[in-house]
Amino acid sequence: MRGRWPGITLSCDANSAYKLKDADHVVEFDAFDLLMIEQPLWHDDFYYHSMLQKRLQTPICLDESIRNRRDTLAAIEMESCRIINIKLGRVGGFSEAIAVHNAAQERGIPVWCGGMLETGVGRSHNIALSTLENFTLPGDISASARYWVDDIIEPEVTVSLAGEITIPDTAGRGYEVRTDLVERLTVRKETIRALELVV
Ligand SMILES: [Mg+2]
Repeated sequence: MRGRWPGITLSCDANSAYKLKDADHVVEFDAFDLLMIEQPLWHDDFYYHSMLQKRLQTPICLDESIRNRRDTLAAIEMESCRIINIKLGRVGGFSEAIAVHNAAQERGIPVWCGGMLETGVGRSHNIALSTLENFTLPGDISASARYWVDDIIEPEVTVSLAGEITIPDTAGRGYEVRTDLVERLTVRKETIRALELVV
């Protein structure tokens, strides 16, 4: 890839494929001038990532290891990574995602928003999150048309040739759920009765 396109931004995600015994091999990735190597080691590790990062010129990005703000602080303190991938689902929603973003920003660690296969609902949340100012690296958010014939939101998400998404200026997420389409696509319905809380 690098030989064919010497000038493009490239990064890779190992999804925990390596062990520390592979360090000599992973260090060779420095030759490819990558933006980052994501999650090379175990999904629950900070210590061995910090040892590997010491040997690498290329920044390590942590994804699965970062579940909350506390993990973020530990990873940065231990110098286990120089970039963090924030996924709303992985950290448990907006409050924690913003806390991770802020903790990273205060310590000079850039972040980006991971994702891919969301329907428009998840996609629109990812777009909203990505408007925070420390999301400075290219994210995973793609156009609705990349995965869906008909996305279940309107307007559908479009990405320009420059790889940019124009943010709607309406309130909230800026995208409406197409309830008629959801209705048409529904194959099964179940009603869950909420318990009434007595205090
Ligand atoms: Mg990843």
